[in-house]
Amino acid sequence: MGYTPMMQQYINIKKDYKDAFVFFRLGDFYELFFDDATKASQLLEITLTGKDAGAPERIPMCGVPHHSAQGYIEALVQKGYKVAICEQTEDPRQAKGVVRREVVQVVTPGTLMEGKGMDGKTNLFIAAAEKIGARYSFCYLDISTGEATATYVDGANDDLMQQLQSLGIRELVVSDAFFDELKELADVYSIVLSIEEDAMSAENGAMYTTASPDDLHATIYKLLRYIERTQMRSLAHIQPFNYQEVEQYLNIDTHSKRNLELIHSLRGGDQKGTLLWLLDETVTAMGGRKLKQWLHQPLANQQAIEKRLGVVTALLEEYFLRMELQELFTNVYDLERLVGRVAFGSVGGRDLAQLRDSLRQLPAIQKQLLESGRDNLVALGQALDLCEDIERYLATAITDNPPISIKEGDVIREGYNTRLDELRDASRNGKDWIAQLEKKERERTGIKNLKIGYNRVFGYYIEITKSNIHLADLSRYERKQTLTNSERYISEELKEKEALILNAEEESAVLEYKLFTEIRETMKQYIGRLQKIAAQISELDVYAAFATISEKYRFVKPVFHADRALKIINGRHPVVEKMLNKSTYVPNDCVLNEAENMMLITGPNMSGKSTYMRQVALITVMAQMGCYVPADEAVLPITDQIFTRIGAADDLAGGQSTFMVEMLESQHAIMNATSRSLLLFDEIGRGTSTYDGMSLAQAMMEYIHDHIGANTLFSTHYHELTSLEEQLSHLRNVHVSATEQDGRVVFLHKVKEGPADKSYGIHVAQLADLPTEIIERAHVLLEQFESQNEGEVKIVEKRIEVPVERIVEKRVEVPVERIVEVPVERVVEVASATAVAEPSAQLSLFEEQTQEEQDVLTELRGINISGTTPMDALQMVYRLQQQLLKK
Ligand code: ADP
Repeated sequence: MGYTPMMQQYINIKKDYKDAFVFFRLGDFYELFFDDATKASQLLEITLTGKDAGAPERIPMCGVPHHSAQGYIEALVQKGYKVAICEQTEDPRQAKGVVRREVVQVVTPGTLMEGKGMDGKTNLFIAAAEKIGARYSFCYLDISTGEATATYVDGANDDLMQQLQSLGIRELVVSDAFFDELKELADVYSIVLSIEEDAMSAENGAMYTTASPDDLHATIYKLLRYIERTQMRSLAHIQPFNYQEVEQYLNIDTHSKRNLELIHSLRGGDQKGTLLWLLDETVTAMGGRKLKQWLHQPLANQQAIEKRLGVVTALLEEYFLRMELQELFTNVYDLERLVGRVAFGSVGGRDLAQLRDSLRQLPAIQKQLLESGRDNLVALGQALDLCEDIERYLATAITDNPPISIKEGDVIREGYNTRLDELRDASRNGKDWIAQLEKKERERTGIKNLKIGYNRVFGYYIEITKSNIHLADLSRYERKQTLTNSERYISEELKEKEALILNAEEESAVLEYKLFTEIRETMKQYIGRLQKIAAQISELDVYAAFATISEKYRFVKPVFHADRALKIINGRHPVVEKMLNKSTYVPNDCVLNEAENMMLITGPNMSGKSTYMRQVALITVMAQMGCYVPADEAVLPITDQIFTRIGAADDLAGGQSTFMVEMLESQHAIMNATSRSLLLFDEIGRGTSTYDGMSLAQAMMEYIHDHIGANTLFSTHYHELTSLEEQLSHLRNVHVSATEQDGRVVFLHKVKEGPADKSYGIHVAQLADLPTEIIERAHVLLEQFESQNEGEVKIVEKRIEVPVERIVEKRVEVPVERIVEVPVERVVEVASATAVAEPSAQLSLFEEQTQEEQDVLTELRGINISGTTPMDALQMVYRLQQQLLKK
């Protein structure tokens, strides 16, 4: 026995949507069958049942009610799946045989339009990419707003994935061949790959590619085709793909965005403590999205940056105007997404009212700008299209506060359509008439609680309680329904009026719906104009936000020049400053020029080296976004790229050790940086043994010095490296100062010329409240080490470098060759000049010690303090103490 016809229909449809869950509409439910059902029931935690489908065995089935389907669809899509929504596309009452069903939309991770999980201030992009020569064509768009971008991505597959990740893109459309190549990597990055072999015809697609180079067109057409195929509706709001010339933007790779905490904090995904968190004083959701886009891609074109800065200056100086504008923006809804709904045909009455109310703010916004008397603001004002015709149209067509659903009526305004007014009158008059009739009947019968009611099944009725029936003249009524305590009747005149009222209501609902769909259609012609307005308002919103924060935190306008020199006077890290509370932040200068464009920063842990480096990068980013910067003065070059190797950002989840991440980031920076880049290397080589790390750090510095020539800030706790200043002509030593007070270290956070004189490691250990005994002992040892002379480097090398475990396990010293794997001649020279050990002193030290004490000392020496957490330290101290007490 084969499947039932309906099941056949399902199987036919499912064939075309193998990679999606098919939500198959059956009456008031969406049902899923076979494997879809088994899997979805687990993912959504809904009951799995079975269905007789004609075959001997029942097939697995599960379902969700159609009115709550959105939540389930969203849940699946958020988990990275696709959902094909299959609707009944004919009226079941008129169907001959099986009702016709068709997939009307495929919802995918990159095309989810709305839902609880979506944040108004974040774009949801879908992308497509292909290899072209040694790079990738890359385009992406936000279906809800229609914004589209095309560009190139240089590098390898990994760089492409990083680009996606940094834009928060979850779905990438590729060709079959590319799919196989990317599949594994995409899994690692949690990116859904979708195959599209087809492409939109060049004829249909031409309007989208006017602003991008020819070799990007194929990828754009592919993406558009995929959207056409999955969304099955108008693409009218999608804008021509805006070509982003890589050179026009300051490029910051994903790692660096994360290290600098531009959008996400290092501690977790939240925004607190990020630059975005500091900068986001935007009022509208559109402005919030625009700000994020600018943060992702600051500019690298001096003229364009200065234009933005000019507007910020004007708004900063015009306080009242800015306040007024921001006030007006609060009444502007998310125009971009509203327009997206217009294009998709999913716009409702309330949406149109919001659109209209937003447009009403435009004249006042324009007036403010025009009256400012500032050229750049006036120009922005003049460029605004007030859309008065659209506003007027919506004002006459839509009521003040329409309900969300179009079917509830009350969407179309009185006076818009004569017939609708007549029908509404008829139903209103009819209702008045019924109220009158109720009054009349009460008087006639003397029954005070007689009432006229309505229900869907019986229509209008006169209701009389059983105890009063004897008072009524039943010959005038016809009985309709008997309830426990009352009887319901209808009279001849009520019947006539009922027909009139119900007809009028039905006709009015049908007409209102028809008129609304016409309005919705009419609105489509305005999409382009509305999008333009949306973009202008969102930019103004960001400018006003920049002005607001610049004023609030006393930022200054940066000055750009063609040179590579950089001068920041009294710069601050804006986020640390905000967290610390202004008064305690210590501002610092940073001056780099052609002659000295590399800085080596030394200083104790926690003194502020990393903060200092980040502040230079953040100032660069903010300035190139067009914002003022936290400093007293900032003269900056146009930077093309920022690379960072900062912080202990372990990518343990991604399976990479700290050191591997460190090396990958360094590799990426060194391979891609140019002389116009900004490089930040914080504590390079920290994740490996001393000489390894130091050798790598030095080799990298030399390479950058000789081959790249970028503005570079290096921080290190290897004092030995400070002598490099003599060999590298562009390198300058600075240190973050600290002083000792009563034997304790006090961080001054002030950056000064020259290398730091001490590492203060022991003082920091003291701050961490290690027992006095250890601290004192460490001081003694340090003195000994420092007073030992050169020549016996090996012993110190061995003792310092060997990881604790190795020594403890074997109680023998590992030969130095095993540890120093990359012996660079220069390093050894430097190392031997500064690292010191005196074997006889060492031995005499041990002679006086018991075995336990020697073990403890050996272990102590091997501790990598900077890589030890306070908790580990505490446990270690406890253990060491126990060991000593045992003897
Ligand atoms: P390092 O990199 O030298 O270990 P960090 O840059 O991480 O030190 O700074 C440690 C802490 O010191 C920061 O979290 C911050 O609270 C504080 N700090 C750093 N720089 C300053 C400064 N210029 N003014 C005030 N506090 C600072």
